[in-house]
This record gives sequence, C-alpha cells and structure tokens, in this order.
Amino acid sequence: MRIAIIGGGSAGLVCAHLLDSVHDVVVFERQPMLGGHVRTLNGNVPSELDPSLRLDAGVIEFEVRNFPRLMRLFDKLGCETRPVAGTTTFWTRDGEHHLSPGSIRRAQDPWPKRLGQLIDLIGLRMQGLAFDRRTALPDDVLESLPLSECLTDADMDRWAALLTMYAYSIPYERVPDMPAALTVPMLRAFERAESWVSLKGGAWCYLHRIVESLRGEVRLNQVITGVTRDADGVTLNMLGPDVERFDKVVFAAPPDQTLKLLTDPSEAELRRFGGWKPNHIQTLVHCDSGMYERRGIQVATEFDVYELSGGQGGYNSYLNDLCGVADSETRYGLAFGMEDEIDPAKVLHRQKHHTPDYTVDAYRWHVEVSATNGENHTFHAGAWLGNGLQEGAVVSAEAVSRLLGGDSLDEP
Ligand SMILES: Cc1cc2nc3c(=O)[nH]c(=O)nc-3n(C[C@H](O)[C@H](O)[C@H](O)COP(=O)(O)OP(=O)(O)OC[C@H]3O[C@@H](n4cnc5c(N)ncnc54)[C@H](O)[C@@H]3O)c2cc1C
Repeated sequence: MRIAIIGGGSAGLVCAHLLDSVHDVVVFERQPMLGGHVRTLNGNVPSELDPSLRLDAGVIEFEVRNFPRLMRLFDKLGCETRPVAGTTTFWTRDGEHHLSPGSIRRAQDPWPKRLGQLIDLIGLRMQGLAFDRRTALPDDVLESLPLSECLTDADMDRWAALLTMYAYSIPYERVPDMPAALTVPMLRAFERAESWVSLKGGAWCYLHRIVESLRGEVRLNQVITGVTRDADGVTLNMLGPDVERFDKVVFAAPPDQTLKLLTDPSEAELRRFGGWKPNHIQTLVHCDSGMYERRGIQVATEFDVYELSGGQGGYNSYLNDLCGVADSETRYGLAFGMEDEIDPAKVLHRQKHHTPDYTVDAYRWHVEVSATNGENHTFHAGAWLGNGLQEGAVVSAEAVSRLLGGDSLDEP
C-alpha cells in the first residue's frame, strides 16, 4: 500500500520506520527539517557551536521504567544511552527552595543542613501521599477533571504543577486547566521513577538512524492544503496544482491540525478534534548561569523549576550532565519561561515549538481516536495519544503499524 504520513516528528518517523518494510511510505513534513520537538544543536539543527557539542533544545531525557517501548526501540536501533541524575529542585515564590532526594545527595551539604533537608522531604512526602489519596479515582472520573481539582496550594502540589509545566511545555498559569487523566498518571509514574537516561549524541540520534535506513520517502517544506477520503483511498492536495493518491493516511501532526487538513470531516471527527488548539512556546539554549548565582545555587539540577512573579513559572534544565559535557567550564541550560532572567547576549539558540494545548474538553476523545484508527482510511499517531511524551509517540506509532500489518518492536 502507499501510505502518507503527515508530520515528521517522533511519532511520524517511528511509524514510517515500522511500516517501511511492508508498505511504500511518504513522510510529509511542514518544516525544513525533521524531528518535531526533537531538536539537537549540531544534530538536526545547524549551529555555530563547537561541532563536537550536541545540545538538545527540546526533548532530552527518558525514564527507563516508564518508557519501555522507547527503550526497546533504542536497543533495536543500537543507540547508546547515558545515565543522568534526574534530580529536581523547586524554587518557590517566597525565595525558599526544596530539594528532591537526588538533589540532597548531590548537594553534599554538611550534616546539620542535610538533616533539615531530610525533615523538609518528610513533610513534602506527606503532602505527596495526600495527593495520591485525593487522586485515587476511577479513570472515568479523572477524564472529566482538570488538574486544578487535584491540586492544593501545598508546596508539593505546586512543585507537581511546575513539573507538569516542564513535561508538557504548557505555560504555568494554564497548567491547572490541563486534564487530570493525562497529568495525574504522569506525576504518579515519575514519583516512582528509577533511572533517567539521555542519548549519547543527542535525542536526534535515534531519529537520524531511522531516517538513514528509511526506504520510503521524506518530503520537507510540504504544505498540504487538503486531505480528501473516498471509498478507494485518500487524495492529498499540496500548495499549487499537485495532488497525490494514497491508500491510507496517518496524521502524526499536532491534533489541532487534523480538522485544518481534512476537507471532509465526519461528525465524529468534528467532535473528536474540534476542541484542540495549538500551544506555541519557545525554549532557549543559553550559557547564562546568573539564575543560579542570584539564588546562591551551588548544584544545578535536571529539573530546576521556579515560581516567578505574577503567578508565572519557568524551568531551567542543566544541560552539561544531560548532554555529556560535564567537564566544560561553561554552564549550558535549556530554559522555558525564564526569558527575563537570561542575558540575551548569552542565548545560543531560540527554538519554537508547536505542541497540543491540552484541555479536558479536547483530550477527552483521545481513547476514541485510538479505538477508531483505520476508519475512512485514516489513522492517528502522536505522543498526545499516549503519555504525551516520547513513550506515547512510540506506542501510538506501533499501534498504527500493527493495524496496517507493519513491524512491531517485539520482533527480533
Ligand atoms: C521543549 C520540549 C521538551 C520536551 N522534552 C521531552 C523529554 O525530555 N522527554 C520526553 O519524553 N518528551 C519530551 N517532550 C514531549 C514531546 O512533545 C514528545 O516526546 C514527542 O516528541 C512528540 O512527538 P510527536 O511526533 O507526537 O509530535 P511533534 O514532535 O510535534 O511532531 C509533529 C510534526 O508534525 C509537523 N507538522 C505540524 N503540522 C503539520 C502539517 N500541517 N503538515 C505537515 N507536518 C506538520 C511538525 O512540524 C512536527 O515535525 C518535550 C516537548 C517539548 C516541546
């Protein structure tokens, strides 16, 4: 079969990889480069930095226990991972801070101070248990709740809200509106996280291997103006006079694109995709350590999350460990929501991202979308159909491949 895949991010490329041996796939990507939120400087993103530096400006790290299909894919592709600490520190609006167990171990403060940190941790753990009890709800109840219904003003809950901002790149003030059905399982899973890894050579490395070995076609800078289905297949209209026929189409772009592209949406599709809006954000890769110095931070962590003035929030991920440049004297960071804290002269790269704007109304149809994959020659893949992260992208791609008779990651 000829299969069109719209979107060349993780989900689209993994889907292409799994379908490639059985079908003729064509990946249509709107941007001049592949990868979606996987953006590695000196990988898929050209940069003026030292060519040996591979800094991630989007996706960076993965949790082994919670990302089993992704780990399987890395193994199959022969990608090497690097263990990273996965520690976090919460800088509150009152100028206080809380350290995670890993951050306490890393800080190596003298024992009296460490004792205070451990006592703080016990208090936070109690708040965490209260969160677990409050959110021990059946799936159908969680499906109807925004995260705000599950959070209080307790420090641990605000920390959880900031980590949610981090995970999904949603501005902090909009995190309370996010669906509990997506965010609560993520928070619970990461509470039990065991080991974090990043990819040697940067996150792009694994997609690069997929692209290098792809038999099918990749078309960049492709503007699709319409997707029309009929009894025999699918017609894609491109900008200009071009039209092209396919047997099936896989949507692997953010879900707000689906109705923009479908010329003939069914009532059900209007319902399933009508609530989605885009979330446009920007991350900065920089070498400004001022945010640490101003707060007297000795040990930077992978998830330094900050409450800022005016009810806003931001994060800074310390890239040196994450990207394998621990011995560099320059401190590299990946920041979101921290523009006011970073000297523009020390910004190395600004990266725009278009992600799904998760709300309860939009997200409630995700199970139905997966369950009806294949209707009208149309399939859907994307991280948003799973945990919203890399594992979700791979699981959703594998589900499409299975339905279309493609490869599975279980095969040797
Ligand atoms: C800053 C940031 C950091 C992140 N960090 C992590 C992390 O460390 N670990 C993790 O697991 N997850 C992380 N994520 C989550 C990330 O979104 C998912 O892991 C995953 O990369 C999403 O993949 P996707 O293929 O579903 O979507 P995308 O990556 O959004 O890919 C969709 C693709 O479709 C293309 N497209 C859009 N519209 C059209 C159109 N009309 N026609 C053709 N193509 C189109 C886009 O250009 C894009 O290439 C991060 C996200 C962001 C934004």
